[in-house]
Order: sequence, then C-alpha cells, then structure tokens
Amino acid sequence: MTDLRTDLSAQGELYGLIGHPVAHSLSPAIFKAAFDAAGIDAVYELFPIPPDRLKRGIGELLQRGVRGFNVTVPHKTGVIPMMERLDESARLTGAVNTVEVTVDGMVGHNTDMGGFGDSLGPMGVPDISGARILVLGAGGAARAIVTSLALLGASKITIANRFMEETMGLISAVAPRFSNLEFEVVGLEGEEVRRGAAGVILCVHATSLGLSEDDPLPMDPAVLPPGCFLYDLVYGPNETPLVRFARASGYHAVDGKEMLLRQAASGYRIWTGKEPPLEAMRKGMEKGIGG
Ligand code: NDP
Repeated sequence: MTDLRTDLSAQGELYGLIGHPVAHSLSPAIFKAAFDAAGIDAVYELFPIPPDRLKRGIGELLQRGVRGFNVTVPHKTGVIPMMERLDESARLTGAVNTVEVTVDGMVGHNTDMGGFGDSLGPMGVPDISGARILVLGAGGAARAIVTSLALLGASKITIANRFMEETMGLISAVAPRFSNLEFEVVGLEGEEVRRGAAGVILCVHATSLGLSEDDPLPMDPAVLPPGCFLYDLVYGPNETPLVRFARASGYHAVDGKEMLLRQAASGYRIWTGKEPPLEAMRKGMEKGIGG
C-alpha cells in the first residue's frame, strides 16, 4: 500500500476543507481555536475545488502533505471512489464529509450523522425512540439525518421534498437496513406537508433554503403539531428565517450551529486521536460568526 503522507512537520500539519464554494465556511475558525487550545502546530485552509478538478485537486493536497480534510457540497459523494476504505458512518449514509489520510490511503467518514445525534441532547430535543419525525429535504444532509434518526430508534419518518426521485433514492438507500422503520413521502406544499406533520414530535429542516434572507420558507411552520420541536440545519449570524417564524408561532426551534460544532469535534477526534476542546471550538465558531 502506498503511504500518501508526506512529512512536512517543519511547517506544521495541514488540514482543510474542499468544496465549491467554501469561502463562507466557519470550519477554519473552529479548527484554529481547537489547534491553538491543544497546542497542536497545524493549519486549516480552504480549498475551493470545482467538480471537474476534484481528482487533481485532491492529488495536489496529498502532495502538500495534507493530514485530513473536510468535504462539502458538491463533493460528498464524488470523493468516495478515491477512498481506500469507508468507515461505517460513510457506508450507512453513502456520503463522506471527513477524510483521514493514513499510511494505507484515504479513509472516508461521515461526521454529519454523529454530529447531529450528539447535538440532540444538548439542544433539548425530546427522546427520539419510537417517535414520528418529519424531515424536510432529501439531499446529502437529509440522508445523514434520516440514518441518525433510524439508529436512534424512530418509528416513522416522513420525508417532505420537491422532487420524488431524490426522495426515493434516500429511502431505498436507508430502508433496507432498518426493517422496523416506516417511511412516508409528501410534498412541501400546504395540505401535503400538514398531513405529513400529523403526530410528529420533531421536524428537521434539511433543504438548502434559508441560507439567504430572501429565500422563501420551506413550509409554513404553523402546520406542525403544538409542542413539536423544530431543528433547522441551516445556520447564520442571526436566527434563520425558519427558526424566527417557528419561535414566533410558539414552537421550540434551534438552528444548525450545534451540529456544525459537533461534526467538527468528531473530525478533530479522528484526525488527532485526542478529545476535542469543545468549548474552545465553540468560542472559535462564535468568533467566526461575529467576524
Ligand atoms: P444538497 O444539495 O445535498 O440538498 C439540498 C436539498 O434542498 C435537496 O433536498 C433539495 O431538494 C432541497 N432544495 C434545494 N432548493 C430547494 C427549493 N428551492 N425548494 C425546496 N427544496 C429545495 O445539500 P445538503 O443536503 O448537503 O445541505 C442541505 C442544508 O443543510 C444546507 O443548508 C446546508 O448548509 C445544511 N447543512 C448543515 C450542516 C450543519 O452542520 N449544520 C451539515 C450539512 C448540511 P430537491 O430534491 O427538490 O432539489
């Protein structure tokens, strides 16, 4: 097996994020805070790599001696053929967001799945076991969320999405491993999503709407049953539009910052083998948001 690692220890260890675009990522602020707190001589850089340069871009990173990197849109599935091995989280979700460079080659992990699960308790989300849940969206993040909810013992997951093809792809990837889990598919419009929301205790928003203030809401939060918890994966410096509307309608609602932090903490653990300095990372994230 080829050792892909190059010893550039004199310059500190190199980590980073590949994606397109990557400019607005908070990950550099989170990891800088983590490395500083732990006294690790390392840098975390942004690597904008368009889809048609993925293989070459990763080759260049390996030549520079990268120790590990995060992967974001649109490369979470595109990197899979380049991995020597996938861990269980990446196999279950069919997506890679964290790559570990080892002596045996690149290992793909998915820390979105565990990051979401790890965030539920701290965010005050009620017990998922046996519960009915509504997930809005059927992209890469939704796949990690649905897998996490299935592992936590949800009894029924309703997926509300625009296009059926992506939704059915998600269900056919996850359902065979969880035979007791019931799925329902609805659209995002009016009565359809109201029907899908009946009896749910948690609604997770995993579409890409809300990154811009001008985006429409993915659905009317008032269709949710009273007491339902709304978890928006989107995050920004202020309340996201969906969180703001949900809170104004009396729901408990949180955004995606805690998940972002927890998935980064898992990545830190994978790369360094050490316990992540979570509070330092949280402060780094908040500073990054403020800046
Ligand atoms: P993908 O591109 O894989 O999926 C996007 C999803 O959004 C698809 O289901 C797509 O549905 C839906 N969508 C896009 N545009 C619209 C629209 N105009 N109306 C309705 N639905 C739409 O992205 P990801 O799954 O990777 O990311 C989704 C969101 O989750 C992003 O906002 C991302 O920032 C966030 N995220 C947050 C994380 C965190 O740590 N907090 C981690 C990962 C993601 P369709 O099939 O209809 O196109």
